Amino acid sequence: MPENSASAADRLHAVLTTLRTTMDAQISTSPSVREEHSHGEAMSTARLPDAVVFAESTQDVSTVLRACHAERVPVVAFGAGTSVEGHVVPPEHAISLDLSRMTAILAVNAEDLDCRIQAGLTRQSLNTQIRDTGLFFPVDPGGEATLGGMCATRASGTAAVRYGTMKENVLGLTVVLATGEIIHTGGRVRKSSTGYDLTSLFIGSEGTLGVITEVQLKLHGRPETLSAAVCQFENLHDAVQTAMEIIQCGIPITRVELMDAVQMQASIQFSKLEGYRPLTTLFFEFSGAPAAVQEQVSATEALVEANNGLGFAWANSPEERSLLWKARHDAFWAAKALAPQARVISTDCIVPISRLGTLIDGVYEDIKASGLRAPLLGHVGDGNFHTLIITEDTPKGHAQAWELDKKIVARALALGGSCSGEHGVGMGKLDFLETEHGSGALSVMRALKNTMDPHHILNPGKLLPAGPVYQG
Ligand SMILES: Cc1cc2nc3c(=O)[nH]c(=O)nc-3n(C[C@H](O)[C@H](O)[C@H](O)COP(=O)(O)OP(=O)(O)OC[C@H]3O[C@@H](n4cnc5c(N)ncnc54)[C@H](O)[C@@H]3O)c2cc1C
Repeated sequence: MPENSASAADRLHAVLTTLRTTMDAQISTSPSVREEHSHGEAMSTARLPDAVVFAESTQDVSTVLRACHAERVPVVAFGAGTSVEGHVVPPEHAISLDLSRMTAILAVNAEDLDCRIQAGLTRQSLNTQIRDTGLFFPVDPGGEATLGGMCATRASGTAAVRYGTMKENVLGLTVVLATGEIIHTGGRVRKSSTGYDLTSLFIGSEGTLGVITEVQLKLHGRPETLSAAVCQFENLHDAVQTAMEIIQCGIPITRVELMDAVQMQASIQFSKLEGYRPLTTLFFEFSGAPAAVQEQVSATEALVEANNGLGFAWANSPEERSLLWKARHDAFWAAKALAPQARVISTDCIVPISRLGTLIDGVYEDIKASGLRAPLLGHVGDGNFHTLIITEDTPKGHAQAWELDKKIVARALALGGSCSGEHGVGMGKLDFLETEHGSGALSVMRALKNTMDPHHILNPGKLLPAGPVYQG
């Protein structure tokens, strides 16, 4: 990417002039629209894009990328902007390419349990629209994210322990490459052993290799019986041990989520949860045929009892269940409400399940030493949890949070884990990639980037730290 900012401004001007001939009504340079596209959630970093282009079709995306490729102008794909690692922050003189108008459901194949959708559709809207089919899409990150953005961050959520992440739930994609060329990856079949797995390459690529415009998704049958329960513990260690044993015993639980006492206090206040104490809490959901659910419940109850759980509170009506899961999904906002002027920075470590207890013990020591408040919660069935570090919204406060984040990541990596189970790299986790993947794997990733996006117009500065390229 050429460095000269004056000529970069001219090149951007040339792109907008070209695009205005066919897409004028879809281009905004208004300060408020640019501000909305200047940042994601959580991180303080922000920069205004010079313009926001609202794509309405795959062809629009192709037109934009073709023009940007010709003039070497950076483009940042934008779904709903809920990512938390600075993913959507544009570089200088860039276009933000907003996919949120591409919300069509193109096909639902109920007999094959799959559907094809445009990338700007949210998972909440998909599930509302297909309710009558008896099917649903299970990946449920807390934010109101688009399915394209969820592909691009390889997102997951509370049900990943049962249904997997975006990686396991996408069959195929339509992608526009940096040159504007449109390609299709994968298909509708459940397995195929032909060619390189390009679908997986784009899942988690954070808009750095192509822009996803359509997604073929797996759907799942709505379970016959659903049952949710909450169990509180005097001791964090007992709760973590219970979650680990549930997974190690192979109980096919649908969700097992942890909130520590500090997070529980925040959520009781924010979500008006009644009948709970500010203690470490596990949230469970069981699903399947009635007899299967009963079996899962009995096995879980035995483990809870053996680990000093304080008994189950059941939420069997749809209303009670949705209150409970809404409280879980609102946990970030509940933590933020503890100190509305502060910034909340989320960690996202994951370790093999047997190491979860060791990691959490160490993280508690780090939080204590930092003097910061940091509620802890997570998808413990996957070995993944977040510490929501509450810090002063100043450079000093951000630096303190960053120090704590670094210590937590170092512990996770030393235990064979990853710095991010679901949020992705963006800008926030760039410093950890070399330690996590090694320099050889990183230089192969850079070579891929250079091949697929030779002018580095696609979301530059994200996912890959700068460095040497694999030469073969
Ligand atoms: C309160 C809260 C709770 C959250 N909980 C979870 C959670 O439980 N699990 C989880 O995984 N995440 C969670 N997140 C993070 C966030 O919701 C996910 O990262 C989500 O997948 C981002 O989707 P989005 O549509 O907002 O994408 P954006 O933020 O708009 O974009 C994210 C990245 O994807 C790229 N991108 C967007 N659309 C496309 C496209 N069509 N083609 C190519 N690239 C694209 C962007 O360039 C950017 O790099 C949470 C966030 C918040 C604020």
